[in-house]
Amino acid sequence: MRRTLLIFVDGLGIGTRGQHNPLDLLGDDASPLAVFADEEPQLPHDGLLARTDACLGVEGRPQSASGQTTILTGLNAPALLGYHKQGFPNEAMRGIIREHSIFLQLKRAGITPNTFANAYTPRFFETRPRWVSATTVAVEAAGMRFRRLEDLQRGAAVYQDFTNELVIEAGYDVPPRTPAEAADVLAALVAAHRFTLYEYFITDRVGHAQDMDAALRVISNLAAFVRAVVARVDLDETTVVLTSDHGNVEDLSIRNHTRNFVPTLLWGACRREVHAHVRTLADITPAIIETLTAKEATHA
Ligand SMILES: [Zn+2]
Repeated sequence: MRRTLLIFVDGLGIGTRGQHNPLDLLGDDASPLAVFADEEPQLPHDGLLARTDACLGVEGRPQSASGQTTILTGLNAPALLGYHKQGFPNEAMRGIIREHSIFLQLKRAGITPNTFANAYTPRFFETRPRWVSATTVAVEAAGMRFRRLEDLQRGAAVYQDFTNELVIEAGYDVPPRTPAEAADVLAALVAAHRFTLYEYFITDRVGHAQDMDAALRVISNLAAFVRAVVARVDLDETTVVLTSDHGNVEDLSIRNHTRNFVPTLLWGACRREVHAHVRTLADITPAIIETLTAKEATHA
């Protein structure tokens, strides 16, 4: 049975080599996240790279809310609304997500069960008003369950900082996890669902902070996690897609997002089909829907 894991990494672009780029300074420790302009990367497990346009034909720097809305729906949100929107989605973007999210599209096509692997802390359920991410809107509108602290504790969820460092710092009683341990948890969720989404945001935060030490630590940890995930999922039936909403951390000489292409990294069963389709962020959801709804026989 075909399955897909989508790993979303905020603020990861394809930059140039140099002292401004932590992905270059890390060498092999940044594999497979380190992709450079005008160089073909050597990706483990026969991975493929689709250099992906995040600017989407709209003037200005690409931003998180509009980019994430586009990734999660397949609709070019900046083009529809006429601007890139930073931070959290506004009502117009939330409306697009409520109608067209990948979770809803899969549900309508009879492809279930699907899940958002990230855990939410009690603060999310208790605090009002709250900021609502694109994915939170998508999960709510599709009537799906949010994974909680208890899921994190029993090894059935991954925190957005997969080592649990931030959630432990916040005072919650959860075990710390190595990248490999977190990858085990995510791989088990992937094996139990047709579509699994996991999101990671700290790359964008250290990019805005222009904090090289933090960037080196965060990227080498994340790269180890991604390598472990790809090594653990069954690539004969699973397609792994890793993408980003805009560049940022690949150029610490500036505080802003970059206009660079972002890497869409692909592994597993349908990597070639997805690779053939993905040119911009608006192609991610349609490519995933197509591979999950296609007749299995055409693939065998
Ligand atoms: Zn972003």
